[in-house]
Amino acid sequence: MTDELTGLLTRKTFQERAGKILNSEENLAIVWLNLDNFKMYNKRFGFEKGDELLKDTAGIISTIYSEKSMRARFSDDNFVILTDWTSVEMNTEMIQQYLYEYREDVSLRLRAGIYFPSKNEDIRSSCDRAKLACDSIRKNHSMNSCMFHEGMSRKLALQQYILDTLGLAINQNRIQVLYQPIVRLSTGKICETEALTRWTDPELGAISPAEFIPTLEQYREIHKLDIHSLNQVCKDYRTRIEQGLSVVPVSVNLSRLDFELCNIFQEVELAVMTNDISREMIRIEITESVNDDDVAILNLGIEKFRAMGYEVWMDDFGSGYSSLNVLKDYNFDTIKFDMKFLRGFDINKSEKAKYIISSNLSMARLMGMQALAEGVENAEQLEYLQSIGFDKAQGYYFGRPMKFEEIFMLEREVEDAKNS
Ligand code: C2E
Ligand code: MG
Ligand code: MG
Repeated sequence: MTDELTGLLTRKTFQERAGKILNSEENLAIVWLNLDNFKMYNKRFGFEKGDELLKDTAGIISTIYSEKSMRARFSDDNFVILTDWTSVEMNTEMIQQYLYEYREDVSLRLRAGIYFPSKNEDIRSSCDRAKLACDSIRKNHSMNSCMFHEGMSRKLALQQYILDTLGLAINQNRIQVLYQPIVRLSTGKICETEALTRWTDPELGAISPAEFIPTLEQYREIHKLDIHSLNQVCKDYRTRIEQGLSVVPVSVNLSRLDFELCNIFQEVELAVMTNDISREMIRIEITESVNDDDVAILNLGIEKFRAMGYEVWMDDFGSGYSSLNVLKDYNFDTIKFDMKFLRGFDINKSEKAKYIISSNLSMARLMGMQALAEGVENAEQLEYLQSIGFDKAQGYYFGRPMKFEEIFMLEREVEDAKNS
């Protein structure tokens, strides 16, 4: 069967046919091709132009990889080729050249991951390996193609381990929540905290959130972690309140996928009600994303949480591409400026940098949102952020993520928080 849009093979047909060839032939390569920022292209030029680009890319691929190769479109902008192992890298560069000429006004890049399967190797895992190689250079713009190597396989194995043991890790309390202080700059006191998860595995030791969060998002299991952290946070609060001690509000990270994967409103309410916590004590933190397919759905989500009595914060502002649109499109209570955004400027050397930061800041404030700076590591940064009027700050300078009770033992004072 062929794909209606491009005329290339479908995933199923490709896997059937290529599987047979792998059983009988050697010296083959699987090439996984993916267009950079295809979603952005669709957004900018519309779906019709997006379809046109896919069709034309398929045309270019077919020009370079002749009839002797097998060509397929697996999904969206993912193309896969089974070909002779000679000249795959050169062919990738040729495709790239065609793409540059195809639209000189936009920078289009087709990344290639290459895997050389041995005879009789499984077609599905061979394609997975080519994809892994392709994914590995997503952020590396100096390379358009990359060969698979075993290090990538280890990554795949870790991903599998994370997915296989998530349930167990949750049940056995291997995933814990730490809290990082957030400081109000006008008073210098801790006004809130952010809940951050830590996974300690009996065999692997600490698994970094940089590893497990993207994996759980990719395989659409992230809501399970988020619901667990939420419950953990509410339990920690209840314990402290029961001891008659004070608390400050906490912000909890949610993935935007949670809105699709579960009834996140109900889950938040359940955790809050079960532990008898005031809604004012919980902030919902959502990360800025370039791949916002539906502004309306997220907006409904934000508004619903706000109407229920929760503050909603935007995480990592400035780390993506759509910062200004985010300010325009959504109503957040607080904007968290990403540390990369702040570090990207050498505030001592560049006047321009100061203007950019402070004008983003005043824009957010004009729209009624508070501004929080993340990743503050030294007194100099703090002084600058204070001078341009940030409301709050967070970072190692004030404290690393720590156990809940440790927040209240810090030298720095904690605001008089209401007992909820
Ligand atoms: P984030 O929400 O932007 O959290 C801030 C990250 O920056 C944390 O990393 C924190 O430890 C780190 N950080 C804080 N201050 C500093 C500093 O001064 N310097 C530097 N270099 N780093 C600092 P962490 O804990 O590794 O978390 C990484 C990301 O994982 C978080 O980024 C958040 O997006 C995600 N995450 C963590 N827990 C959860 C969770 O339960 N659910 C979801 N969906 N995401 C989570
Ligand atoms: Mg966060
Ligand atoms: Mg952040």
